[in-house]
Amino acid sequence: MPSMFKSFVRLDFGYSPFHRFFEIAAILSFFALVVIISIQAYTGLATLGWQTAIWLVPVTALFGYVGADFASGFVHWMGDTFGGEETPVLGEAFIKPFRDHHTHPNGICEHDFVEVNGNNSIVLALYMIPVTLIFSDPTSTIHILILAASVFFTVGVFMTNQFHKWAHMDNPPAYIEALQKWGLILGPEHHDVHHTSPYDTYYCITCGWLNPILQRLQFFETMEKIVYRTLGVGTSRDKLKSSSDSAG
Ligand SMILES: [Zn+2]
Ligand SMILES: [Zn+2]
Repeated sequence: MPSMFKSFVRLDFGYSPFHRFFEIAAILSFFALVVIISIQAYTGLATLGWQTAIWLVPVTALFGYVGADFASGFVHWMGDTFGGEETPVLGEAFIKPFRDHHTHPNGICEHDFVEVNGNNSIVLALYMIPVTLIFSDPTSTIHILILAASVFFTVGVFMTNQFHKWAHMDNPPAYIEALQKWGLILGPEHHDVHHTSPYDTYYCITCGWLNPILQRLQFFETMEKIVYRTLGVGTSRDKLKSSSDSAG
């Protein structure tokens, strides 16, 4: 077996071989789906005429990329805030990596391409498959805009954990350092704000543009109050605090 392929499918990870293969399949499906959505978006934009479409591309790019930043923050917030490793179905594969990351922040630098990008690809498939099916033959400008924004949104989400890994690396490639300095992707100093106990702010990890805005709006704090009032579910931080209070 070629060594590159061996390392791609190696099974000596801290997670199950089943999940590893699931991640590989999801990454391959991401590449196929993003090509399909790009072709659908390009075909749709061409029907609008390129004089109109030419200014729609940067607008949808911005919308999609900021949407990815928001999605990264929302999913990260859920992983950090609710449940635990013992949570059925999601605990081991999805919640545990978020919690481990706070205690071993540089562990992500040891993860290979599949482990870094697998989970995001699994979640993306749940968005991309319906989008390609529903908008396979876009009939209105809104459908075309959703398709175009989806290209940038899904690429942004796919790249999120890679940007996150680069933000933790001591010596990332020079062109990545330049993108970090220009603020186009998550930068290390910006991300350090999240890595400060109690890890309850600056959850967005694509580019982080929304972090100061969501912080000022107290968005996640408000969401936690809404979840508690409507579902009666408290945060893991509250549980930790009450168990340490009762132990003390
Ligand atoms: Zn976190
Ligand atoms: Zn981090």
